[in-house]
Amino acid sequence: MRVEVDEKSGCCFGVIRAIEKAEQLLDSGVALYSLGEIVHNSVEVNRLKSKGLKVINREQLAQLRKATVLIRAHGEPPLTYEIAAANDVTLIDATCPVVLHLQSNISKSYKKAKETGAQLVIFGQRGHAEVNGLVGQANGDATVLESVDELRLLDFSRPIILYSQTTKSLEQFARLRSEVRRHLQPGLLFEAHDTVCRQVSHRKPHLHKFAREHDVIIFVSGSNSSNGKELYQACSEVNERSYMVQDREDLRAAWFKSCRSAGVCGATSTPRWLMDRVAEAILNFEF
Ligand code: SF4
Repeated sequence: MRVEVDEKSGCCFGVIRAIEKAEQLLDSGVALYSLGEIVHNSVEVNRLKSKGLKVINREQLAQLRKATVLIRAHGEPPLTYEIAAANDVTLIDATCPVVLHLQSNISKSYKKAKETGAQLVIFGQRGHAEVNGLVGQANGDATVLESVDELRLLDFSRPIILYSQTTKSLEQFARLRSEVRRHLQPGLLFEAHDTVCRQVSHRKPHLHKFAREHDVIIFVSGSNSSNGKELYQACSEVNERSYMVQDREDLRAAWFKSCRSAGVCGATSTPRWLMDRVAEAILNFEF
């Protein structure tokens, strides 16, 4: 059986950068905390924990003093930086440059929205760390829309400035943009900033092609990765013999009956080494 690991799957550069920063510090002996899990993949998080990384939440951050804390690729609201400064906590800022740029633009738009009476709207998942960081740039004064079904939350008699969480789908953003335009009172300002990260959006069409090229698809992802669920769905759409696993232990021999070619791929939070490990287990039939 031929086994191919998808070259384009795996962690995006923002996540790789955050993991590398954490590893450098841990290897040099720094006692490092991470505010939230560095990546939505428990196998990778456990690997970093075994090197000494401690994952903390916001309440635990407030209790820390004179410690070193890593901010992951999703970024954080300004309040986190204020708490750290007040508690003598050193922050290692691994916010993805793409997210940093978006945060800075939202901060500028917030000032403009205050001057013009516009509503600042973020298309994203409520409560998601990146979205919390984005809303924080507007002092909490932004409306989060999870889908086009929530248009009722907007006031169409006021101007609107729209942004997107980086991991939302391009198609859904385009649909929301046209629905807002359709409902808005004529003559009002409408700025729609397409801030979907192409690192994610380009993967779906590629995975459609990759999944068609193999008899069986093994999609490696953490069960808590929303991007993983979406990309697995993309594989299943074109190849019904697609299976999601977290690691090699989840593989089942029955899946590979009469299989001549298996493709291994994963989410933007799946490290390359983990896909390689699963591919090796398939080749050696270690399950
Ligand atoms: S998906 Fe894009 S914006 Fe998000 S961390 Fe990765 S590279 Fe950065």
